[in-house]
This record gives sequence, structure tokens and C-alpha cells, in this order.
Amino acid sequence: MAAYEYETHQYDVVVVGAGGAGLRATLGMAEQGLRTACVTKVFPTRSHTVAAQGGIAASLSNMGPDNWQWHMFDTVKGSDWLGDTDAMEYLAREAPKAVYELEHYGVPFSRTEEGKIYQRPFGGHTTEFGDGPPVQRTCAAADRTGHAILHTLYGQSLKQKAEFYIEYFAIDLIMSEDGQCQGVVCWKLDDGTMHVFNAKMVVLATGGYGRAYFSATSAHTCTGDGGGMVARAGLPLQDMEFVQFHPTGIYGSGCLITEGARGEGGYLTNSEGERFMERYAPNYKDLAPRDYVSRSMTMEIREGRGVGADGDHIHLNLSHLPPEALHERLPGISESARIFAGVDVTKEPIPVLPTVHYNMGGIPTNYWGEVVSPTAEDQNAVVPGLMAVGEAGCASVHGANRLGSNSLIDLVVFGRAAAIRAGKVVDPDAPNPKLNQTSVDAAFDRFDRLRNASGAVPTAELRLEMQKTMQADAAVFRTSKTLAEGVEKMDAIAAKLDDLSVSDRSLVWNSDLMETLELTNLMPNALATITGAEARHESRGAHAHEDFATRDDDNWRVHTISHVNGNNVELSYRPVVIDPLTTEAEGGIELKKIAPKARTF
Ligand SMILES: Cc1cc2nc3c(=O)[nH]c(=O)nc-3n(C[C@H](O)[C@H](O)[C@H](O)COP(=O)(O)OP(=O)(O)OC[C@H]3O[C@@H](n4cnc5c(N)ncnc54)[C@H](O)[C@@H]3O)c2cc1C
Repeated sequence: MAAYEYETHQYDVVVVGAGGAGLRATLGMAEQGLRTACVTKVFPTRSHTVAAQGGIAASLSNMGPDNWQWHMFDTVKGSDWLGDTDAMEYLAREAPKAVYELEHYGVPFSRTEEGKIYQRPFGGHTTEFGDGPPVQRTCAAADRTGHAILHTLYGQSLKQKAEFYIEYFAIDLIMSEDGQCQGVVCWKLDDGTMHVFNAKMVVLATGGYGRAYFSATSAHTCTGDGGGMVARAGLPLQDMEFVQFHPTGIYGSGCLITEGARGEGGYLTNSEGERFMERYAPNYKDLAPRDYVSRSMTMEIREGRGVGADGDHIHLNLSHLPPEALHERLPGISESARIFAGVDVTKEPIPVLPTVHYNMGGIPTNYWGEVVSPTAEDQNAVVPGLMAVGEAGCASVHGANRLGSNSLIDLVVFGRAAAIRAGKVVDPDAPNPKLNQTSVDAAFDRFDRLRNASGAVPTAELRLEMQKTMQADAAVFRTSKTLAEGVEKMDAIAAKLDDLSVSDRSLVWNSDLMETLELTNLMPNALATITGAEARHESRGAHAHEDFATRDDDNWRVHTISHVNGNNVELSYRPVVIDPLTTEAEGGIELKKIAPKARTF
């Protein structure tokens, strides 16, 4: 057994992650009077949320008529009827409250002439239950909305006396014999000390796993660590085959150009200069949802109408917009286009390509953020002591496809919901659970094995192999053949985790070891993604299967549940929640409005 000395910390709640979701949960928990620690591998304001540009959706009606029922309908339709209806109602209903709270906490939103929060149009957000024109629902702080939110929430969390453990890397969950989460084992990156956090509630807010792919808009730190920890604890992941490709990653670097660019009037063209989205989505054109636009772009390229020397990308045009509007509303992306594509957006189009952007799947939870692990008797059985929020979780409000600006609102609505729930289920006066030493030791053993790994395959090499395979075989369009090959390749790649080579054995700032731990987290996420995709014989949302081109609600309106053990993935299925929280008589949505129908734009 590996002998590491460690310090033990006792809290009511430990939140792992300090992005928008983790900080909103931390702040809420502290406000409830719970002793709260927030553990994060990067400085809070460097979390990927800082990069969110376009905005946060809420039906404030500042720029025209809107209501939460329309927002809910758009989210249901956007999810291609795979989202859980109770959670989607909760999201749309609570969104305005959550945004006004952010405003009162001090988020510097852009303003209208009358001083209200400025809102812009975003893909898939409409009026009149999809029958009316696009709505301006996305609240923005220029094109730096995530930055504004993250800085405000960090300041507020400090004010509430939440305690931060910065540059601490969470290695594994501590689980009791009977399946209760009791805490988390961490490694302090800058001095090599080890720490055990013992808590009554652990909240995973570790973000997405975009870096399982070769080209992604997400930060290099988005390595699905929460999903990895959960898989190793024998708990499930949900709907992992649904990976969102954002239509406008800059060709080459993958750096994001916000959908807000199209919201402000930008449009896509092919090599013939044609605004081709008019053919695919006659009503909403460039503001159709992301899966739709990404597929349309891929079709244009496949049919020989791509731009550039190799005809392998598409143009995004902004030069017709007034320079003042670009300067005021989209300053960040003008800079990104200059740096990453060498383009002056006031004069030339930006070369773009669909790029991996968001993981709809994640750790299954109910709409209070409590982690769920289905059993034969109870499909909604809650794992005591464990919550998951933000991109790491799957509530599921995004189903098979997320609408733009619905993630930032998901972070704050469910970060807040988790805190409200913890206020009810965590007793500050109760003693902390007695730690299961076997589980603590297992975490240190795994850490030690990786630290001393002396096999043949360097971490960076294996990671690249995984990323290229995922990019090629679990892409915008998928076929039975590419998926079957992909599963086989990923199986062999995952097996090489036993033959890793780590060259640096130190404990202080050992980035080789940290990246190795991250790779062991990316891998189960990637395996669940490609295996779930191969098994799902239909097309729905972001999962476009060429051999099964239509949606099949009779057989496939179900969540995929995957248990990943080593390189073995076991799949099962769980029903989608069909019923909303409130009836029409109680002011809720009319049921016939949200019944499945063809998803056209
Ligand atoms: C470029 C870009 C632009 C976007 N724009 C928008 C937008 O305009 N609107 C919108 O709604 N959505 C947008 N999204 C999506 C949205 O920003 C993300 O889904 C969201 O920010 C994720 O937040 P999070 O809190 O779940 O995780 P993150 O912000 O990714 O934070 C994860 C946190 O977990 C911590 N962590 C992870 N692993 C460990 C570990 N092992 N130990 C300790 N700590 C750990 C990290 O330190 C970090 O603090 C965008 C995404 C990208 C990539």
C-alpha cells in the first residue's frame, strides 16, 4: 500500500470546481449557513466559464414579448425530446430569478437605452411556441458574459466566507461500503501535499470533457474529471453520445466565435458566396440550432462547396455590420479573429468549421442536482452525499442538443437549486460521516501507481491517439461502420492505460502526472461516448447516424446509462421524464405543446 501522509479537513459541503456552476453552488451553500469548501485545480476565474461569450438565456422580455413557457418549449424542442420535462420546466421558470440575482450580485450586463439588461437573439430561441419570429432572450455583457459572471460570483463567495482550496487536484471520491459519498482525496499541486476532505455533501462541478476530442473550443483543463471519478466509484454516466459541435470554431485553432455573431446579424456562406442556411432552415436560417447548422455546413463541404484551398471550411461574414456595433457588442471575437485567423472582421469573412463545444451527457441527476444511480427497483435512486451540477452533470435539460446560452443559465439555476436542496438535507449539527479508510487508501494507491508508471506509452502520445480517434469516428455524422471501428480502436487505446510511462516522479508542479490523471478521466468519458453512440440506432439532436437517419421515439426516447469499468462499458436505458412539474391549470405549459413532433426550423 502506498504511504502518503495527508491532512484531513472537515466541512459540511465540499464543492469540486469553481466555474459558474461550482461558484454558484458554493455561494448558495455558504448563504445557507453551511461550512463550505471549494476545491479547484485552476484559479477560480480561470475556469472555462470565463471564456463564455454570447450570453445567458432568460425570458426577461426586455426587448419584446417573451415568457418562460416559450423558453421551455424551445428547450424541449432543442433537446429533440430527450430532456427531462420536470428539469426543463424548472430551468425556464427559475431563469429570470437567477439572472436578476446575478444582476443584484453585481454582474455588469450590457444595457438597453432604458437601462434594462440587454438581450440578443440566439439559435433556436423563438416566440409563440416556435411559430413566431426569433426572440431576443440571451442576456449579455458584451461578448464577455462568462467572464463577468465568474468574477462576480467569486467575489460574492469570498464575501460569504466560503473557503477556497486553489490548485488542489481532486483525485477520487471517498465512498462508504454502502454507497454514500463521504468526501474527496486531493493533491495540492504547488507543494505536493496530500489532503482528504471529509464532508456530508460533495458537489461535482468539474465541467465538460471537450478535450477527449482533437479540435475543441473548450480549455485544456476540460478533461471530465468528475465523470472519471464517478465511473471509478461504480456510478453511471448518462447520454454521453450527445456531443455538441459548435458551427463556428475558427478553422485551424478551434477558438470559438460566439453564436452571438450570428445573433447580431452575421451569416454563413459557401464557396459560391451563397447564404446556404436559407435552403436548410427557411424560417430561422443562420439562427437554427447548432446541430442543424453544423450538419448543414458539413453537407456543403461534402458536396464540394467548401471554401479555402482545400474546400474544407465555410465563411462567417460580419463585414456588413456597422463597425460601432462590432466594437460595442463583439469586441472579443474581433480580436480572436485577428489573432487566430489573421482576419479583419470589418473587411473579410472568418474561416470557420464545426468544432466540439459542449457535452450534453454527464453524471445523471434529478433537478435538485442530486446524483442518481438507477436500480432495478428505483430508476431515480439518489446517491447519498453526492451532487453534480453544470456541464459535468446531466439533469437533463439539454437532452440530445443544447440551445446556445442555455448552459450559463443551467449553471446558475442548478448551482442555486443544489444549495437550496443541501439547505434541507444537510444538518450542520450532525457529525461528519466516518471515513472509509479502504476507499481513501485505494485513491492513494491509484495515484502512486500512475506516479511510478514505467510502461512504454507517454501520456501525450496516448491522449493524441484517443483525441484523433474520437474526432474521426464519433463526428458530426456517424455511420455503423465508423462507430464500430471507433469502438474497437478506443478499446485498444484504453487498454494502453496499463502501459503508460510517466517520467517525472516529483510531487511539486508535476504536470506530467497531472495530465496523466486527467487522461485517466478523459478515457472513461470517451469510451462511454463512442459506445453509447454505436448502440443508439436512430438520429436525434447532435447524434446524426447515417444508417438510422430518423428519430425513433418508440424505441429510443430513453436515456443511455453507461457504467465504465476499465475499458468495458455496460449500457442500459432509463426512461425520460415526460411530465412537467405543473399542469396547465396551475399555470404550466399545455401538454399538447410539448408532445414530440418533427423538428424543423
Ligand atoms: C469558448 C466557450 C464559449 C461558451 N459560450 C457560452 C455562452 O455564451 N453561453 C452559454 O450558455 N454557454 C457557453 N458555453 C458553455 C459554458 O460556458 C460551459 O458549459 C460552462 O461554462 C461550464 O461551466 P462549469 O461550471 O460546469 O465548468 P467549468 O467552467 O469548466 O469549470 C470547471 C471547474 O472544475 C474544476 N476542476 C475540474 N477538475 C478538477 C479536479 N480534478 N480537481 C479540482 N478541480 C477540478 C476546474 O478547476 C474548474 O474550476 C461556452 C463554452 C465555451 C468552451
